Amino acid sequence: MDRGTVLVVGAGPAGLFASRKIAAAGYRVIILNRDIKPGGLAEYGIYPQKFHMKGGLRKQFFKFLEMPNLSYFGNTPVLGHGSLTLGDLRQWNPSAIVFAVGAQGTKTLGLPGEEGKGLYSAKDFVFHYNQLPPFASMDFSIGRRVAIVGMGNVMVDIARWLLEDMPGERPEEVAVIARRGPFEAKFDKKEFDYVEMHLDRGSFSEELRRVQERVQGCGQDISKLAESTFPWLDQPLAQIAPGKLSFRFLTSPSAVLLDEAGRINRLRVTENDLVLKGDTTAARATDQTAELEFDTLIYAIGDIVDPALGLPCDKKGYYITNPDESRHEGAAYEVFDPQTGKVLAGEFVVGWARKASDGLVGKARFDAEQGCDHILKYLETAPSRIAPSLEDITRGFSRRGTRAVDKGEIKLLARTEEAEAKAHNLPAIKFPTNEQMLAAIEKEKSASGSSKSGSAAA
Ligand SMILES: Cc1cc2nc3c(=O)[nH]c(=O)nc-3n(C[C@H](O)[C@H](O)[C@H](O)COP(=O)(O)OP(=O)(O)OC[C@H]3O[C@@H](n4cnc5c(N)ncnc54)[C@H](O)[C@@H]3O)c2cc1C
Repeated sequence: MDRGTVLVVGAGPAGLFASRKIAAAGYRVIILNRDIKPGGLAEYGIYPQKFHMKGGLRKQFFKFLEMPNLSYFGNTPVLGHGSLTLGDLRQWNPSAIVFAVGAQGTKTLGLPGEEGKGLYSAKDFVFHYNQLPPFASMDFSIGRRVAIVGMGNVMVDIARWLLEDMPGERPEEVAVIARRGPFEAKFDKKEFDYVEMHLDRGSFSEELRRVQERVQGCGQDISKLAESTFPWLDQPLAQIAPGKLSFRFLTSPSAVLLDEAGRINRLRVTENDLVLKGDTTAARATDQTAELEFDTLIYAIGDIVDPALGLPCDKKGYYITNPDESRHEGAAYEVFDPQTGKVLAGEFVVGWARKASDGLVGKARFDAEQGCDHILKYLETAPSRIAPSLEDITRGFSRRGTRAVDKGEIKLLARTEEAEAKAHNLPAIKFPTNEQMLAAIEKEKSASGSSKSGSAAA
């Protein structure tokens, strides 16, 4: 019996775990993914050297794609501007659409001078070093003094890349700019272990002395910092590595100053006080300012969703979900249109698309699977629809000039990349452009005698 077709937009961890669960319940699932390859940030965000974790997830995801009632189309962004639109998807008349597109919007601080050169969002920079097209081929030039705004695990990944693994000349100093104090550091110990040998203990102690009085007002005792967020302070330094990592606490950027070439050369900052706000702390700006010398700045302050997808968005950068959460459990997954005051029936958000930059893969999986409990309940009583045929869908791709990559082709690509890595004696290799990936697929197909190109046998 045809139980209906569900479109899943996005093949990161949330989209893939959701697809598996919906397909396992007997529905036909069609995944549309912006990137050629599945995996989202598991492929293009997680630190490149975490080969074991990335390989494990990849293997798991490829297994999901084997499900016979699950189709995959990579290289099919749903965005408008000449690509597929939300309208196309709705016209196909699926039983439900699950948006698992992650948080693709860019959050900035809206500072004067932010349009200058040498300023990057963490997401774009991470995409660049993880080889996601087109970011892989874009210029992300790094200077000698880099400021990273933010104090979470993404900051640590970026500092690690800049100080430990970036090819070419590495910066002399990476400075973490944090709105609040050292007790509010949000990174995990095991992640910071990778960069701890760069922490300049002398300037760190000086910085602690500088902010000591200001954090004391919130009951924080700097002499106890090692028992809290910086356990390394109690341990002897194992080794000192070139490239200095420093921190500047209680500091908020207020303007970016540019040189004649239009590149950042200084950052104007406001000094903050730390104040209690309920059971947490908050930064409160003072009238003190300073100018710090930097030639590169990276925002690692979390992301927002991309409004270009066409779903209703709020001012904070979230897709709007049913505010009536008290009425039923799954409301938080239902897309809501504030203009009509109604839920968009059969449309759901899961993972980072629902809660931007929220947690690790395990959390995105949990969110998607919990959302699916609700989606499956909806499907049981949803009005029956005529399922879109793969022909309709591929016709939609051709109309938009989209070269969709199906799951058979994804396998060929993976095989080619593995062979390339082996030939170069490297743990992994990725093609940095879509053109190279498509050419590799075609080459592999002609070698195996298949002439199929972007076929409907997805
Ligand atoms: C720098 C960084 C490092 C991280 N490191 C770790 C780690 O070490 N361990 C860990 O467990 N977690 C880590 N995470 C968190 C983890 O990556 C996320 O929890 C998880 O990837 C979120 O999954 P998602 O599917 O919601 O979104 P994403 O992974 O962002 O997936 C979104 C998918 O949607 C697709 N898409 C986007 N827009 C469109 C569109 N318009 N049309 C069609 N498709 C679209 C994208 O191509 C992508 O495939 C890290 C995150 C970052 C940013």
